[in-house]
Amino acid sequence: MLRAVLFDMDGVLFDSMPGHAFAWAKVMTAYGLPMEPVDAFENEGRTGIGTISIFTQRYWGRDATEEEAQELYRRKTVVFNEYQAANGGEAPEMTGAGAVLNKVRDCGLMRVLVTGSAQQSLLTRLEAHYPGHFRPELMVTGDDVRFGKPNPEPYLMALKKAGITADEAMVVENAPLGVRAAVAAGIFTVAVNTGPLDAKLLADEGAAIVLPSMTALAERWEEVMKLRVDKLTS
Ligand code: MG
Repeated sequence: MLRAVLFDMDGVLFDSMPGHAFAWAKVMTAYGLPMEPVDAFENEGRTGIGTISIFTQRYWGRDATEEEAQELYRRKTVVFNEYQAANGGEAPEMTGAGAVLNKVRDCGLMRVLVTGSAQQSLLTRLEAHYPGHFRPELMVTGDDVRFGKPNPEPYLMALKKAGITADEAMVVENAPLGVRAAVAAGIFTVAVNTGPLDAKLLADEGAAIVLPSMTALAERWEEVMKLRVDKLTS
């Protein structure tokens, strides 16, 4: 019996990844850590220090220190906000996300947020765009976790907060590492390929189905529900 749908945020509920990718590439490259926007999509889901350490390992042969990571992440947040300010003020809602949330609500299911983001005022922003869907006690953010995605930790924490088992949940993710984390937590995972990566990356991480958009998920909701039951009983 399905009881909750666990939603990633960036690239699922908000079309925020272009801004994050721009900011990551600009700031990391300025610090002598060459990074392309597509690298940000490939590493999406990691915590800030996790992403930074991938690149300090590659170019400096060591992890980032806590101070370096804090400074880089602070700069990245500034550049992200500048990008958003120059592009309409804030990241827009992902097209179709509202329709998916309404389907989930109409099915009587809990909606749980599982994000690596540690931004302040997350709940205010969610409430402004998707009123009535999310509650603070059913949110896992970058501040709650020790490891972050692709470790299953955030999704296991979400199951615990919702008081349910993996078989009672479904995940909606857009990032390969997010799919990996959800699959490692034993949860049926739907991938929505809302970025520039090859859909095969999402399938290879174990997504049960890869859809091109949140709109497609809303339209094919019944099919996805049936697929989940088939998977659980096979
Ligand atoms: Mg995401």
